[in-house]
Amino acid sequence: MNSNSATDSRAAIAYIVSTDLIKWSSLLPSNPKRSLFVHTLVKDLELLSPSYSATRRIRVVRPRTATYEDLEVYHSKEYLNFLLGEGEPDPDALPEDFGLEDDCPLFPGLNEYVRAVAGATLTAANALKLVDVAICWDGGRHHAQKARASGFCYVADCVLAILILKRFPPMPQARDTPDKSSANTRKARVMYLDLDVHFSDGVSQAFYQPTTTPAIKPRTNSNRQVLTLSIHHTSPGFFPASPLSGLPPSLSEVTPASNRSFDPYTLSIPLNRGLSSQTYRAIWPIVERVKDAFDPDYIVVQCGVDALAGDPGSSTEFKSVGVGNWSLGGRTGVSEVEEGSLGWCIERVLSTWQGKKLLLGGGGYHSPNAARAWAYLTSIALDKPLHLDTGIPLTHDEFPLYGPSFTLDVPPGNMEDLNWDREEESQFLRDAKERFEWVCKVLEMHRL
Ligand SMILES: [Zn+2]
Repeated sequence: MNSNSATDSRAAIAYIVSTDLIKWSSLLPSNPKRSLFVHTLVKDLELLSPSYSATRRIRVVRPRTATYEDLEVYHSKEYLNFLLGEGEPDPDALPEDFGLEDDCPLFPGLNEYVRAVAGATLTAANALKLVDVAICWDGGRHHAQKARASGFCYVADCVLAILILKRFPPMPQARDTPDKSSANTRKARVMYLDLDVHFSDGVSQAFYQPTTTPAIKPRTNSNRQVLTLSIHHTSPGFFPASPLSGLPPSLSEVTPASNRSFDPYTLSIPLNRGLSSQTYRAIWPIVERVKDAFDPDYIVVQCGVDALAGDPGSSTEFKSVGVGNWSLGGRTGVSEVEEGSLGWCIERVLSTWQGKKLLLGGGGYHSPNAARAWAYLTSIALDKPLHLDTGIPLTHDEFPLYGPSFTLDVPPGNMEDLNWDREEESQFLRDAKERFEWVCKVLEMHRL
């Protein structure tokens, strides 16, 4: 902290970055140099300047490196030994036994990459002891599993962060007051909100605890501390295939007699191709209804930007091929922030939701657009949003790659939003709202 911090009344925001983090994170084969784009644009737009905002103070935090013990909190020894080349790797094990092939190849520097990214997210999570908002754009690897790499994700940093936050003290809340004993003894509630275009299978599965009679008796143990909600695209053949990626069942489908398994703390809103700000605006009341019902103390937001218009998808055939038409902030030719845009959603979370927030990165395969998006979200966290027509600074090393607009916004393109082109669409929304309503009542009834 600088010497003025004692007299500085502005709330601090932790921003995780270091030259080592950029160096190692930039090695990720699916996103070469993206980390460099992001952090240099944030710097070139002067967001790291101590005087950028009148109400918020950015506190640049150098991340620590994750230890084997940090990673072992979730990952299996067998996986870590093979992944990191440490301990006693099974001499007969093959890379494919751990998903280390195709879109998750072994690469030079993988050990350092894994430790740097996990360490950065853990540093951000721990910063929430001191600040209300922490940002780690190099984190958000939501497909990694306990013993397997998947979908460009080698380390489950989101899961590791949630496991840390579960142990943090709960935030004082108005509704705790009538019953002081529960206020003193209850555990923290952690909500994980995933905005990446891909379903958060790694994180959702990590905390999934199904029951066949959720309306009567949902989770009974400390796993009621964690709720995951993923808003994503799904369609046949689109990565990842997961039985958890659908809408909640309707109430009539979860009677004890139906024997259907469901976990009201593992939630998902699947959307059709062409998902746009209009669609996010329409479903946002559901997201806030879930938030109110669960009432989190800590909110982890995976801000993957691969649903933004113009994202090329990954280069691997069986992954996405650019299915979203979401805007960062505006509409073509309109400079004010549009409801339902990514910027609008994050502004809602940061300004109107109670609780401390951890913002993580995620997917995003157009590096200049990922840099635009995460710089803009950083400016929102600093309570001084950049104008959407802000020019990319000429001093930015990668300036030529920001054409043809050379401005900050990522406006929508021409892709049709298939969430609205069917006559039964309003029925889809009504149906989704109805399904989430009974789930929210269960959450309220069984709140810790
Ligand atoms: Zn993604």
